[in-house]
This record gives sequence, C-alpha cells and structure tokens, in this order.
Amino acid sequence: MNTEKRNGLTSGNLGYPRIGENREWKKQLEAYWGGKLEQEELLASMKEIRLNHLRKQREAGLDWIPVADFTLYDTMLDTAAMFGLVPDRFDYTGGPVPLETYFAMARGNRSAAACEMTKWFTTNYHYIVPEFGERTPSLVDNRILALYKEAKEELGIEGRPVLIGPYTFLKLSKGYDRTRFQEVMQSLLPAYAQLLQELEQEGVQWLQMDEPALVMSVTDEEMQAVRDSYHYLHSAAPRLKLLLQTYFDSAERYSELVALPVQAIGLDLVSGRTRHLDALEQYGFPEDKLLAAGVVDGRNIWRTDLDDRLQLLESIARKVPYERMIIQPSCSLMHVPISLAAETALPPELRNALAFADEKLEEIALLAKAICLGAEQEEVKTRLQASREALRALKASPLRAARAGQPAEAILAAKTRTPFAERRKEQQKAFNLPLLPTTTIGSFPQTAEVRRGRRLWRKGEWTKEQYDRFIREQIREWIAIQEEIGLDVLVHGEFERTDMVEFFGEKLAGFAFTVNGWVQSYGSRCVKPPIIWGNVDFEAPMTVEETVYAQSLTSKPVKGMLTGPVTVLNWSFVRDDIPRKEVAEQLALALRREVESLEQAGIRMIQVDEPALREGLPLKEEDREEYLEWAVGAFRLATSGVKDSTQIHTHMCYCEFSDLIDAIRQLDADVISIETSRSHGELLEAFETDTYDKGIGLGVYDIHSPRVPSVDEMTGLIEKALRVLPASLFWINPDCGLKTRAKEETVQSLKHMVQAARQAREAL
Ligand code: GLN
Ligand code: ZN
Repeated sequence: MNTEKRNGLTSGNLGYPRIGENREWKKQLEAYWGGKLEQEELLASMKEIRLNHLRKQREAGLDWIPVADFTLYDTMLDTAAMFGLVPDRFDYTGGPVPLETYFAMARGNRSAAACEMTKWFTTNYHYIVPEFGERTPSLVDNRILALYKEAKEELGIEGRPVLIGPYTFLKLSKGYDRTRFQEVMQSLLPAYAQLLQELEQEGVQWLQMDEPALVMSVTDEEMQAVRDSYHYLHSAAPRLKLLLQTYFDSAERYSELVALPVQAIGLDLVSGRTRHLDALEQYGFPEDKLLAAGVVDGRNIWRTDLDDRLQLLESIARKVPYERMIIQPSCSLMHVPISLAAETALPPELRNALAFADEKLEEIALLAKAICLGAEQEEVKTRLQASREALRALKASPLRAARAGQPAEAILAAKTRTPFAERRKEQQKAFNLPLLPTTTIGSFPQTAEVRRGRRLWRKGEWTKEQYDRFIREQIREWIAIQEEIGLDVLVHGEFERTDMVEFFGEKLAGFAFTVNGWVQSYGSRCVKPPIIWGNVDFEAPMTVEETVYAQSLTSKPVKGMLTGPVTVLNWSFVRDDIPRKEVAEQLALALRREVESLEQAGIRMIQVDEPALREGLPLKEEDREEYLEWAVGAFRLATSGVKDSTQIHTHMCYCEFSDLIDAIRQLDADVISIETSRSHGELLEAFETDTYDKGIGLGVYDIHSPRVPSVDEMTGLIEKALRVLPASLFWINPDCGLKTRAKEETVQSLKHMVQAARQAREAL
C-alpha cells in the first residue's frame, strides 16, 4: 500500500489481543503455572504467539504496528517490573525482576499476597495496581527495547513500541501520598527518561505513550505535572517522537494537551466524537503534529459504518490534512475477540455485520485505501459496498424492528412502589423474620459433579429429563443443608447456571452467543460476552421451575434469583443502533415479566443482582448523572411491579460504593447485600454518613478465599456495623455467591456465620 499512497496518510494499530486465536496464550501460561512447562518452553511459545500477531498485522497492510503491547500477564505490571517497583513483601533485591516474582506479584505466593487488581477504566479488563514504596523507581529491565529489537530482527518490522505514560501510570498506582503527586512524579521521571534514551539510541523512531487517564478530570496541579513530565522527557530524548495516546473518551484539557512537546496526538473519535469535534472546531490542531484518529471502535464488535467514517475523516481533513493523519482504532483491540473465522454458526445477517480484531484491522486498511485511492477504485468500491450491504441487512432484520412508543417511562411512572416504611410493615407480617436475618447471595458450590452433569447434558449424553432430575437433586440436598445450618432465607443454589448473564441471555430473545469470542478479563482468565443484537424479549419463565421446586421443600422463604438489566447490559456486547438506555429498558421489561412470573408462582422474595452497575459509570463526571438515572430506572422498571408484601433484594460487589449511595437509595430495593469484608471501613462510612434507610446485608466474610472464618471474626464485623447501622435494617450474609467454593468449607463458614448472628442477636 505504501507505494500507492498519494497523500501520505497512514494507518496503524494501538494494541492487539494477546490471548491467541485459540487462547493458546492462556493455555501456555496455565500449563506453566501448573508445573507442566519449563520456563524456556513458556518463553519460546510466547515469542511465537507474539511474532505471529505481528505478522498478521503486517499482512493487514498497516503502517504502524505496535510492539510491547504484548505481555505475560498485564502491561501495568510490566511497567512496574521494568521500574523495579516490587513491593517489599516479595523477595527482591534489585535488577531485572525474575519471572517467578513477576507472577507472584500478579497471583500471590505462599508468603506474600498478590498485588491488588482492579478494572481498567470502563472495560472488563483488570490490571495489576503498581505499588510505590521506599524504593526509588529505576530502569532495571528495558523490555520495551527488547521487544522492539525482536520485531526488527526476526521480522524486519519497524514497530512502534507502546508504553504506559507516566501520568496514567502514577494515577493508577498506589502506595504514595496523593498530595505529593508532583514530587512522586519527579522521582519516577528519570526512569522513564532513561528508557526513552535507550530507545532513541537504538534508533526507535516513534513511541506510543498511552495516557488514557487524561480523559478523566485533570486538576491544575496534575496538568502541571503532565506538562513538566513531557517537557522533561522531550529534552531527555529529543529525537524520539512521541504519540500521546488517549482513549475511552474525549481528552480533557484538549488545548493544553495539543501544546505538549510531542509529535502526535491520538484521540478516540468513537466515544469522544462530539466533544473532540467541538474541540477541533474551537482550538484547531497544531501544524507541527500528527493527528491519530481513532475511528474504528475498539470496544465493540460491530462492523464500522465506513461511509460515516469517511465523511468524518473528510470533515477533519479540512483542519488537519490527510498527510498528517493516522487512521487507527479508538483504543487497543484487546477488548474485542480476535477473529470471526470460527463463528460459522451465527445467523448470517449477524455474522456479516460483525468485526473482531482482525476484521477491524482490515477496515482500518480499507479506510486508508479509500482515502488514498478514492472510493471509486474498483476493489475499494466493492468492499465498501459489501460492508454497506452487511450493515443494511442487519438493520433490516425483523429482530431489530422499531418498537412502538416508549412503554418504559409510562410503566415506571405508574409503578413506583409504596413508600418503604409502609411496605416494610407488610413484609414483616408476611415473613416474621428474626432480627439480623441470615441469608446467602445465591449460588452454592459448582462442584465437579455439577459441571459434569451439565457437560453430559450439553453433549447429548443425558436427556433434558435426566439433567433436570439431577439439578433437582442438587436443590433438594442444599435446601436440606441450609435448613440444617439454620439460615433464615434460603436460595435454590443456581446449579443450572454456568454464568449469571449467559443463563438469561440464552433464554431471552435478542441474544446470540459466539463459539470463540473470548476476551481477556484478567491474567489468563477470559470471558465470552453474549451479543445483544436484536430486541430483547421475554419468551417464557426462566427461573420459576427451580425456584418453585426449592420453595416446595421448605417452609422458610426461598429468594428467587435474577441478574439485573444493567449487569446484563454491561457484561455483553451491545447493539449500537439504539441508545444503551433503550436496550436497558428492553431488558428491564423482560425481567419484569420474570419477576411477575415468580410472584405469581408464590415466590415472595426476589433478588435482582446488579454487581456491574458501577462498571457502566461514565469516565466523565458530567455524564454520570444521566447514566445513573437510566440505570436506576431500568432496575426499578424490572422490580416495581410487585405487591407491597413481596420483598425485593439486590446485590452488588467488587466496587467502591461511596459515590453510588444516592443511586443505590433510588433503586428502592427492600434489601441490598454488599461486599464489605475486604473494604470494611470505607463502605460503612459511606452508608453511615448518608443514613441509608433500607435493609442492608453486610458481607461478613470474603468468599474469594477457601479459609473458613471464625465466629469471632464475624461477630467483630457485625458489632462494628451495628455501631453505625440500626439492627432493625441489618442482614447477615457472605460477600458474594459461593459457586467457586468447595462444599465443606462453605457449610462450615455458613455455620459460623449463623452462630455469629445468634450471638449478635443475644447481645442486642
Ligand atoms: N447471585 C449471584 C451468585 O450468587 C451473584 C453473583 C455476583 O454478584 N457476581 O452467584
Ligand atoms: Zn457478588
């Protein structure tokens, strides 16, 4: 393509999925951790995977191919290791961090707990949180340089290394005093400078500095630190060109960013489109820089509307001529699956309208070609036409037919529940629960036996009847166990579900499932999100049978268990032809039917889980209210149709609740259970200062560990909570579902929990 270029426009990528087309990356890593692979074997196969990905990107015809976006676990962890930032609890005395220590930081070992892991902005990817300590950061191992050289020597690729920029790195790290941000930055920069100098000496031309934290609010002080850093780095390595890359939304402080001493600015023109266009209009773009235009969505799996993007690029070209433009994805492609090749079973109108990472690279190359050669060039024309047709066919699918009116708002207005204080009386009469009632979050251990049963049924070796009977046996066993333990509110155990979103997706209209659409969630763990591609509809009751069966076995109340609309939305790939709000409403209406079905079948407590409520929270302060409004609205739409005496529960975990309290209150659930055993102090404070006034279940033990907590430990937590929350509103439960735990430890832990509740009641 280079020779055909008329106007100097280039195309590039920002990052490629590392997991391998058939998850070979994951398999190799796990084999190594399991002791089935020597270190050299692991490193050799990793190199092969890496080079393979580079070859693919070269074949796609891209000018800018990222190197060092690859990792053996996580690139934040790589960066920390490169700078020798190994917490003191690991045995490390300096020099390159040994592979064992590197993995221990990610996963923990016998003597030291793993580093914290947390979500990468609004994605479902989790990075390892770097920890600053006594040690001054210094360059102990230039892996960026090594990977650059490897691509050049092995494949003759002049790659563009990727590095997390100092601002984002520091913002996402912990272990230092936030008020000393600038000072800590000063201590970090020499390590960065040395790294850049080594790249410069090697003849590296461009470095991609990822600074996604620049799309979130940046204080004056922080902006000063950004400015100082980039001036410092520029004078340290003046010949090395920098691409300052932002993504996931529009860059804050646009006018100040484009004035930094870097040679290219990367903008996300998918999620930050309008704001970026406004900024371009208002401030223009400096003549001495390249604009890296992220026009192909790296966060979703749909084909790009190429006509739209060509128009967009043309309008930008009036400000920044094509010869100073790079066409690229909106962010790294690691957030989408690798290739459509295996997806032969999807409905054709869906499959044709999809683009995973490899297909997105083709789109980028095609956009560049269309601009360089003109949309009338034969091949370009045919391919643009094919893409247009595919999108048209999807749009025409009956599954996407427009819905009449907006029933959601009308229903919601009509169905706000009776005030909590009043319906509470009805519920107290109905259930007659003791103070500090005990319950669990829903799932019980998915043992080897349960997984085997499901496998046999999926393979057709068991009939549906056999499988159903097997599930019933599990339910019966666990109802008996719960009664024997003495829990007050029981659950059926969710044995029929592999995954809390997939289970509902498979039973609702509008969903599709891929066979190989994996994306990395953390470390070697991958998820395969469902695709919401048509209108979501309720087809038949999804959970009634198992729940009613469980209820028939006991006189204690059994909670029905559903996944909430916002969580289903946030853990799926979602159609982008209508606003997310509308998809959330469709999901909510469908779940509302399920709630009604449960109620009609005699289930009097229903839990609607929303662990992913926070995940959808926009990065920009100013967008949050709108999101929370429709997200809360969707939850209420799903749950507000019930009688006063029916008790609605919800559950949330893995999140920082302090800025969600208002939204949580507005959910208007009768009881919320939340994770607290790991973030105890913080959470209680948030609920205390805001005087939360509905039922609240405190997670009194961490379900992520096989350790059986003692009665005393839990009594301690309960006492602490009772100092700030009234006993009349308080429930006692584990942090989250127990599906990953073994049977024995679960039963023991729950016995201790019930014991702790009894003691706490007596002490009241
Ligand atoms: N009800 C679900 C379970 O117990 C909740 C899971 C979750 O919060 N992630 O498994
Ligand atoms: Zn949970």
